[in-house]
Amino acid sequence: MAINKPVQDTWRLQTKLVRGGTKRYADAETSEAMFLTSGYVYDSPQEAEQAFKGERERYIYSRYANPTVAMFEERMALMEGARHCVATSSGMSAMFASLVCMLQSGDRVVASKALFGSCLYIMQEQLPKFGIVTELVDGTDLAAWERALSKPAKAVFLETPSNPTLDIIDIPAVCTLAHQAGARVIVDNVFATPVLQKPMELGADIVMYTATKHIDGQGRVMGGCILFNDSDYLEDYLKPFMRHTGPCLSPFAAWTLLKGLETLELRVGQHCRNARQVADFLDGQTIVTKTLYPELDSHPHKALAAQQMSAGGTMVSFIINGGKEAAFKYLNGLKLVDISNNLGDAKSLTTHPATTTHQRLSELEREELGITPGLVRLSVGLENVDDIIDDIQQALETL
Ligand SMILES: *Cc1c(COP(=O)(O)O)cnc(C)c1O
Repeated sequence: MAINKPVQDTWRLQTKLVRGGTKRYADAETSEAMFLTSGYVYDSPQEAEQAFKGERERYIYSRYANPTVAMFEERMALMEGARHCVATSSGMSAMFASLVCMLQSGDRVVASKALFGSCLYIMQEQLPKFGIVTELVDGTDLAAWERALSKPAKAVFLETPSNPTLDIIDIPAVCTLAHQAGARVIVDNVFATPVLQKPMELGADIVMYTATKHIDGQGRVMGGCILFNDSDYLEDYLKPFMRHTGPCLSPFAAWTLLKGLETLELRVGQHCRNARQVADFLDGQTIVTKTLYPELDSHPHKALAAQQMSAGGTMVSFIINGGKEAAFKYLNGLKLVDISNNLGDAKSLTTHPATTTHQRLSELEREELGITPGLVRLSVGLENVDDIIDDIQQALETL
């Protein structure tokens, strides 16, 4: 009791992020202990037998559970307001496991088509290989969701704001339609971050994250997690899938992510303030034909974004006049911002989606998604915002 302070219902987000899930062990360590162990030992064969029968709660093997990973899961669940959290080795293993664990041949999945590149690959290439029918819709078109969900479906998957064009999908409206079709709704909440948007409060059944992005936020480790309330989904589908297929989070990564969470709200707040200033700057540049940021008056879903999210987010996308050639010249002119497909990092990172994350798609598919040759995506970092803007300005001036 004295060394382990129980979570109080009244704790605010920042307190939960610093304290939630912390369990101190025999030496009363201040910081969360890192349990770099794959296995655990038993006092007796009787104890091992009981553990395997599920009659005794204890650690068996780190593919199943690990004390450091458990602290991360508890802190994430507390932050999200979810009953359960299952940590995974990456965001993609979270996405794949959350879907595949409950699907079988013949099932239907409906998803928005503006997805992170690898999520789109799972929808288009992997699930159909197992006889799962996937249908992709324009996520911003409620009539399209209604048509697709007029037939039964097992799962709905969506990302909002979407990568890289920052479209906003109406989470409550899609959840209502999905539930009528018998589907569980999974939201990829990575771009919004757990600080700015709570999909489960808006009706979603399952929320997934890559922890690689804002949760670590400092470019160190890969990780992910799946959050939800439904205990049947855990016991019948996700837990056995995770235990026996093995996409578990490493204890070292879990420890790093626990440290990341302590500053998540502070970092995301500053990322958003910087992103807003960068968006305002870009919006005033004649060489930039369009700036995409959910708080700008020109954003088509500004009002919806304001309802669902508490700020505009950490990402800004923009279209440079002059297509790929101009975009590459701009990127080559940057002296501070790094070229990288990663995001949510303390360092400002920028990428050219048409030739990197979405190069697998046909030109027509890219055009439908608004991924034009002049589009540049910027993950606004935590450097002094005036330095970020100065760098963008001098690179734009090379055009
Ligand atoms: C990065 C990302 C993922 C995948 O996460 P990894 O940790 O790289 O596997 C999924 N969705 C979105 C929106 C992402 O940005």
